[in-house]
Amino acid sequence: MTKSDLLDKFTDGIKSFSEADQALIQQAYQLSDTKHAGQKRASGEDYIIHPLNVALNLLHLGGDRDMIIAGLLHDVVEDTDTTLEQLREMFGEDVAMLVDGVTKISKMKTANIQERKAETIRKMLLAMIRDIRVIIVKLADRIHNMSTIEYMPKDKASRIAGETLDIYAPLAGKIGMNIVKNRLENYALQTLHPGIYADIDNYINSTEADSQRMLDKIRDTISKRLTKHNVSFHIKTRQKHHYSIYLKMKKSNKKINEIFDIFGIRIITDTVENCYMILGMVHSIWQPITGRFKDYIAAPKDNGYRSLHTTVVLDDKHVVEIQIRTTEMDQINEYGIAAHWFYKQGDLPKVSDFAWLKHLNALNNKQMTYEEYYSIIRNEILQEMIYVFTPRGELIELPQGATPLDFAYQIHTNIGNHCRGAKVNGSIVALETELPNGCIVEIITGKNASPKPQWLKMTKTLSAQRKIRHELSMQKDFVPDKKRLANETDKATPRADRTPKPEKADSSEHTPRIEVEGQKNLLYRLAKCCNPTKDDAIIGYISNSRGIIIHRADCRCLSHITDFDQRRVEVSWSGK
Ligand code: MN
Repeated sequence: MTKSDLLDKFTDGIKSFSEADQALIQQAYQLSDTKHAGQKRASGEDYIIHPLNVALNLLHLGGDRDMIIAGLLHDVVEDTDTTLEQLREMFGEDVAMLVDGVTKISKMKTANIQERKAETIRKMLLAMIRDIRVIIVKLADRIHNMSTIEYMPKDKASRIAGETLDIYAPLAGKIGMNIVKNRLENYALQTLHPGIYADIDNYINSTEADSQRMLDKIRDTISKRLTKHNVSFHIKTRQKHHYSIYLKMKKSNKKINEIFDIFGIRIITDTVENCYMILGMVHSIWQPITGRFKDYIAAPKDNGYRSLHTTVVLDDKHVVEIQIRTTEMDQINEYGIAAHWFYKQGDLPKVSDFAWLKHLNALNNKQMTYEEYYSIIRNEILQEMIYVFTPRGELIELPQGATPLDFAYQIHTNIGNHCRGAKVNGSIVALETELPNGCIVEIITGKNASPKPQWLKMTKTLSAQRKIRHELSMQKDFVPDKKRLANETDKATPRADRTPKPEKADSSEHTPRIEVEGQKNLLYRLAKCCNPTKDDAIIGYISNSRGIIIHRADCRCLSHITDFDQRRVEVSWSGK
């Protein structure tokens, strides 16, 4: 779009503001245009194209007057001789604060690019805690930068795309702006893996017509039923975005033609009661798949997402995911916080409205390096949270990907330091197991248990890692060089001092199936010392990091394992 086309669109877009506000916005545009005069984007276009696009994005996201003005002026302090004081005088405190929040830190002594990046993010997040609009201005900026990233040199483009996936897309998700999150993720995927992006795109295009026919049939069936019941509704078909297809392929190690929920159905109605009524109706027509039903209305996600999800079987080849929600939920699920402005016209959300903002706020009082800060933001604060329980029913919040060790350290440093095993929903699991949402975790402690260097890799949270590192440094013989580390690792799993080594895993370890106290699918290995085979009487030993080691019950090694009795567990071959 040319500059004058963009400007027409923009002038048209701000007509919903009062005349006085429109005049102020135009004044901001004039200032930006004058100040950026002569500057060019990497695409060769006049620089003003960029702030104008950012302001248009903000209009689309429901931004208020000061956000639109800040969008127009967001780069003038960083890239021209304009000062914050001048902005404050002309447009007020809020505009100055919003622009400052998205302006890079320039006067830093360090030349380290990672450090500057982390410090700039820290500055922006601090500003966001005071006023959440800062992040929406920043996201509007990032959307336009990502949409023109093809003009950047490759290494810079990759770095920006990586940061988008680490920080900005998750931030958009955290405030519920899923439309923004999906767009950013798709741009990043296209930048980092253009081939994969193109493959997914081609596949979607080649299957769309077929899927559409199937979805139309479902749509007809549902429509007929609902019309009979006199319920207000409309039905959308939806397509999973490229990045989430990519993630699913990666996570489940599947080919794209094995991903069944690329296309789905969304039913939108007027009341919560109708949502559940429609769910019942859907389940009476098609068989739901157990374990795939999610009630995010009764238990919303931490970013405010609400909807019912169910996956049903259409015929022996096809299953489809159906989402059911109200119009208001649909708006908020796509636009997040911005939708609150459209709907409620109420106050801006506050720090206390979001648990993750509270965690972020609490970070300010903690001493940490910039690397630790970046890591904690990326791996904890911006992760989806899971909620798990102690055996007494106490709720513990952890980032997705957390393990029993993170849980143990979260409860108490001493529980962590003396952890020697864990049960999830009553079954013994390896300490590096990823905890599922909603599970009950029980930590088994031992007087003589103590942290091992490999625990650092088996934890997700920085606080657990810090405590482990501290405890390791207290252990007299711990010297963190590679040779010693290897020794430590070797010592970590108590074993017989003589050969053969009992805990070395067999390469064919997972061919037979094992049940541990009635539980299948646990991490286990067959001990090499006795090579148990099916129908041998067997016994399990809970190792520190390798899951359960299966020995023959009469294995000679067992008597050499000093703590065997404390760590033994009943196991049997499954599927006789
Ligand atoms: Mn910019």
